[in-house]
Amino acid sequence: MNILLVEDEPKVAAFIKKGLEEQQYNVTAAYDGHTGQNIASGQDFDVIILDLMLPGINGLELCKTLRDKKKDTPILMLTAMSTVNDKVRGLESGADDYLTKPFHFEELLARIKALTRRKSRAVPGQTLTIDDLEMDCYKRTVTRGGKEVILTVKEFALLELLLQNKNSVLSRTHIAEEVWGINFDRNTNLIDVYINYLRTKIDKDHPKKLVHTVIGMGYVIKD
Ligand code: CA
Repeated sequence: MNILLVEDEPKVAAFIKKGLEEQQYNVTAAYDGHTGQNIASGQDFDVIILDLMLPGINGLELCKTLRDKKKDTPILMLTAMSTVNDKVRGLESGADDYLTKPFHFEELLARIKALTRRKSRAVPGQTLTIDDLEMDCYKRTVTRGGKEVILTVKEFALLELLLQNKNSVLSRTHIAEEVWGINFDRNTNLIDVYINYLRTKIDKDHPKKLVHTVIGMGYVIKD
């Protein structure tokens, strides 16, 4: 498992790198935004751990640049700030999860495992469909009306969960636990933000909407 770590604080970077290497991960470290961006653009990683405040290009910009280039590597954002708005801002830039500093190493490890877990579960040929939307769980591709839809890791996980439970209403808590893990901070509007991303990508250009809000209950995918 190859991890790119972009972190400018030497002590924090060394602590993360050492800990991950002890867990048999290969860690490439970059200490500023430009270097991080160059490495991330030229090489594929299983996870990118990205500090928010960086010299050169900051974490938000770097994340957005990678997503604009259609890089769908899971990104875990590290942030010293803990307000809801900063977290959501980080996620809006395309990060899949965030962790507020200071954190325990075990927490970082749990987040990395959660981000990489879903990739290995599917078997070849496993597809989920609804109407003209098709998800290939093994190749990790999604099409609607035959046209490819590019999703980030968390958007994919969210859509996969909805499709596995199509026609059933899923509560925000259930979605949070399944897609983000049980340590999820329920005071954020993270789920709603991600549902909106999904809608923009799969429903916006189609007259027939698939993702529906059930007021007071949650979300459902149905045709
Ligand atoms: Ca920093």
